[in-house]
Amino acid sequence: TTPSTRRYTITLLPGDGIGPEVISVAKNALQLAGSLEGIDFGFKEMPMGGAALDLTGVPLPEETLSTAQQSDAVLLGAIGGYKWDNNEKHLKPETGLLQLRKGLKVFANLRPATVLPMLVEASTLKKEVAEGVDVMVVRELTGGIYFGQPRGFSTNDIGEEIGFNTEVYSAPEIDRIARIAFETARKRHGKLCSVDKANVLEASMLWRKRVTALASEYPDIELSHMYVDNAAMQLVRNPKQFDTIVTNNIFGDILSDEASMITGSIGMLPSASLGESGPGLFEPIHGSAPDIAGQDKANPLATVLSAAMLLKYGLGEEKAAQRIEDAVLDALNKGFRTGDIHTAGYNLVGCKEMGEEVLKSIEHKI
Ligand code: ATP
Ligand code: MG
Repeated sequence: TTPSTRRYTITLLPGDGIGPEVISVAKNALQLAGSLEGIDFGFKEMPMGGAALDLTGVPLPEETLSTAQQSDAVLLGAIGGYKWDNNEKHLKPETGLLQLRKGLKVFANLRPATVLPMLVEASTLKKEVAEGVDVMVVRELTGGIYFGQPRGFSTNDIGEEIGFNTEVYSAPEIDRIARIAFETARKRHGKLCSVDKANVLEASMLWRKRVTALASEYPDIELSHMYVDNAAMQLVRNPKQFDTIVTNNIFGDILSDEASMITGSIGMLPSASLGESGPGLFEPIHGSAPDIAGQDKANPLATVLSAAMLLKYGLGEEKAAQRIEDAVLDALNKGFRTGDIHTAGYNLVGCKEMGEEVLKSIEHKI
C-alpha cells in the first residue's frame, strides 16, 4: 500500500530583522521532512510587521490575516526593529502580532525549555541541575489580570491615588486551556502540574477545581498542583521534576521567562500558540535581533524547532516533527554552532550553513 499524501497550506510570515533568514531555513526543513513522510506543503508568504508597514501602512494587512486564517498553520519569524521604534503614527509593528493572535483566536501559549545535552554548559544552572531538563509551560493567553474588568485608576476613600486590575477566569476559559494542557502532556511524558495561588485567590480556587474535575477525562495523565511561589523556586532548584506545567496568563508570563533562562540559549527556543480549532501560530521566542540582521549570523534553530512544534501540535504529524528534532540534535552533535551558542573547539557556522546541516541530517537519518 502507498501511504496517502496529506496536503497542508502553511502561511509564512518572515517579518523583520533576522525573520526572513530563519524562516527560509525552517521552510526548507518543513518541506524536506514533510516529503519523507508523505506530506505535501503549499506555502504562502505574506508581509507582516515593519515590512508590512513600509509596504501597506499597516503592520497586519487584511490579506495577510485572511490568508493566515484560511491556512492549516502559521509560521512567524520575528517582528519589529529600531527603524519603527519611534513611529510618529504610533503604528508599531508589534501591534500586528496582537491583532494576529486575536484574529487566529489562539488562547494557549506553549513554550518548551529543554536543556540539550550538548548545550548544558549554556545553562544558567549548575550542570547536575540543568542536565536533562525538559519542561513545557502552557500559559493561558487571553484572560486573567491583563484583561479583567474593572481596571483603571481612581482614588480611594481617603483621597489617595490608586491603580487596580482584576483577575477573572470563567469555568469555560479554564476548561479549554486545561484540555490543551492535558493533551500536550499526553504528547509528552504524561505528567501535568497545574500552577496557581489557590490559597489566596478565588480565580485560582476555581482554576484548581476545574482542572481537578477534568482530570477524570485524562486517567493516563498524572496531575499535580503547586502554588506559584513554590513553582518559581522549584524551577531553579529542581526543574527535572516538571514535565508539562499549565498556568494562568500572568503566572505563565513570569514562569515561561524563568524557564527559558534555564536553557540559556534564546536562539534555540520555539513556541506555539493554539486555539480550539483553526490554525496555530508558531514562532521563535526571540525578537528580530536587528543587531545581527542581514549578516547570516542568526541561529535558525529556534524557528526550525518551531516548525517541528507546528508539525506536532498544529498538524498532529508527529513523525515528521521527530525527524526535524532529531536533525537539530544531529547537527549540534556534529559540532556545528552559530555565534550565539558557539564555544571554543566547535565549528562556527552562519545561518545558511546551519540550515544546510539540518537538511543533510533530515535526509540521512531515516
Ligand atoms: P523583542 O523584539 O522580543 O523585544 P529583544 O529586542 O528583547 O526582543 P532580541 O531581538 O531577541 O531581543 O535580541 C536579543 C539579543 O539576542 C540580541 O543581541 C540578538 O542579537 C540575540 N539574538 C536573538 N535571537 C537570536 C538568534 N536567533 N540567533 C542569534 N542571536 C540572537
Ligand atoms: Mg527587539
